Amino acid sequence: MVTFYRRLPKFDYLNPSDINEALTLLAKYRNNTQIISGGTDLVPKLKKRAITVPERIIDIKNIPGLDYISYEKGNGLKIGALATISDIENSTVIKEKCNILFQAAQSMASPQVRHRGTIAGNICNAVPSADSAPVLLVLNANLKLQSKKGERIINIAEFFKGPGETILKPDELLVEIQLPDLPNGTVGKYIKLSPRRAMDLAVVGVAVLAVFEYSTCSDIRIALGAVSPTPVRATAAERLLIGKKPDARLIEKVAESAAQSCHPISDHRASAEYRTDMVKVLTKRAITDLWKSV
Ligand SMILES: Cc1cc2nc3c(=O)[nH]c(=O)nc-3n(C[C@H](O)[C@H](O)[C@H](O)COP(=O)(O)OP(=O)(O)OC[C@H]3O[C@@H](n4cnc5c(N)ncnc54)[C@H](O)[C@@H]3O)c2cc1C
Repeated sequence: MVTFYRRLPKFDYLNPSDINEALTLLAKYRNNTQIISGGTDLVPKLKKRAITVPERIIDIKNIPGLDYISYEKGNGLKIGALATISDIENSTVIKEKCNILFQAAQSMASPQVRHRGTIAGNICNAVPSADSAPVLLVLNANLKLQSKKGERIINIAEFFKGPGETILKPDELLVEIQLPDLPNGTVGKYIKLSPRRAMDLAVVGVAVLAVFEYSTCSDIRIALGAVSPTPVRATAAERLLIGKKPDARLIEKVAESAAQSCHPISDHRASAEYRTDMVKVLTKRAITDLWKSV
């Protein structure tokens, strides 16, 4: 089928050359303004008229110095707002220190989209199926938000309000994602279920981060994507395993509990029942794989 798009209504295109100029523009034009970064979410939405065409678009992609990925022992990883999904996928330090984020990046979209799309844009877009979101939840990421008035750091658990909605104010930019150091021996797994191929969005995404010490699980974090209005931590399931020695029966119980903590919808991609069943299957698989790997 060929889709013909009508010409977009006119809008002003603003191209700030540094962060200060971007924040000044955002402070001046709070309403009817959209930020664009890689544009891999925004442009298709505009073309499909899924959102109202704004009066102006502020393009932050050309701001220098915001595409960094840096690591400092004790302070953890810092990812600038313009680091692309490809940058994450190709970063040796991410692969070494934070392998689960590397796994999520690899599971996303196509090489072309990964080359343009940013990890910051993935979470600011706030669709429940965003692959980086459950992973950043288990990594306990902090987000640095900046406006002309100053900056604030908030935990990712407070960031999402609902599908397409975050706590970002109209004059704020997400400028940095901060990932605290993980304890030695932490292992992590992200499993994405998508209907046909890697290009598809997740029908279910399960992220598990765990530490096993002397065959006991000393810590575990489980987060689920695409099965609730926002990505969620399965904290009741985590509590069942912390301080215990895993075995097949216990892992089954943990996976059942994770399935109970989601509230999926049925849509053209999968039914709510299927999604719930898959949370159980994938949580069990992720924990079992991690347990066997140590
Ligand atoms: C073919 C295709 C396949 C895809 N596959 C996947 C997939 O498998 N998994 C997945 O999760 N996603 C997928 N996506 C979605 C998309 O590529 C990602 O969400 C991408 O990370 C978005 O980043 P971006 O820089 O392109 O965001 P943009 O489109 O530029 O922006 C997205 C939203 O975030 C806001 N925004 C962006 N950056 C900031 C910032 N720094 N501060 C404040 N607000 C900001 C924008 O205003 C906009 O509302 C796919 C998209 C396409 C077109």
